[in-house]
Amino acid sequence: MKLERVELFVVRLPLKNAYETSGARETHMTRVLCRVESEGAVGWGESVAGELPWYSGETWGTVLYALEKFILPELFKADLASADDVDRKLAWIREHRMAKATVEMAVWDLFAKRANKPLSALLGGTRDRILCGVAIGIQPSIEALMETIRRELQGGYQRVKLKIKPGLEVEIAEATRKNFPTLAFMLDANSAYTLKDVGLFKRIDPTKPTMIEQPLAHDDLVDHATLQRQIATPICLDESIHTSEDARKAIEIGATRPRAQRAPRVAPELPRAGRRVRVGPLLRHRDHRRAVHGAEGRNDAGAEKTGNRSHGP
Ligand SMILES: [Mg+2]
Repeated sequence: MKLERVELFVVRLPLKNAYETSGARETHMTRVLCRVESEGAVGWGESVAGELPWYSGETWGTVLYALEKFILPELFKADLASADDVDRKLAWIREHRMAKATVEMAVWDLFAKRANKPLSALLGGTRDRILCGVAIGIQPSIEALMETIRRELQGGYQRVKLKIKPGLEVEIAEATRKNFPTLAFMLDANSAYTLKDVGLFKRIDPTKPTMIEQPLAHDDLVDHATLQRQIATPICLDESIHTSEDARKAIEIGATRPRAQRAPRVAPELPRAGRRVRVGPLLRHRDHRRAVHGAEGRNDAGAEKTGNRSHGP
């Protein structure tokens, strides 16, 4: 299969509520959407790169750059026998994982459409629905956080991930456990702590969170292993894991038990490995085509639509 046409869109969405983590406070979400077309079928992908490089070095701007400059020209030359081929064709390009994943996920969607199957089936999935959790940013007060958790649980979410930052972690964990004695909650620090904070994590242990995500530096594995030996709460790595090799090393030295991985971060190797896949909402678009590859040259424009955010890094 040859890609006949690829369109990239940039959409900037005002969030209903600001999304605060230890790394940033976001009021808008800018995303690159990718539409691929071949032999009458269409597939869509969405980049998760943010406005600022606080979570990853990639941003929506670097995603556009890498797609236009290296990634799409490579794929236009290719004859794709399956979605797996995207990985092979792009293997020589280092980094730019979110950019690669943007088009790779669109190609997976395209192959699913051509096969007239749900994408989940193509990836080896057997269920047509799954339990879902929600990520909740740092709220203005503990009371507001408890209220937000309550609202999300009423909305049907089965578990929650709570963002923490220095000065708020123990209070958040204790209040959550007190108000929701049986709730499966996890904490996400987004790399805000160091080994000097081990005492704080020991105070969190009795509240029994499911896990604590990325407490230490974004590029660390070794200190996480040291921390894990001293606390009972399982450590889950996110920012530190870019490849399955990273994961193997982290597990080998005891730096992590569970792992948080999203397709757009570790792709292109992720779909083959059958790991968790995050498919973002596909946003309806009006006249905000950013760039058109293939038959039609380019057309720059922008647009805003209202949206909310239920999953965070
Ligand atoms: Mg995270």
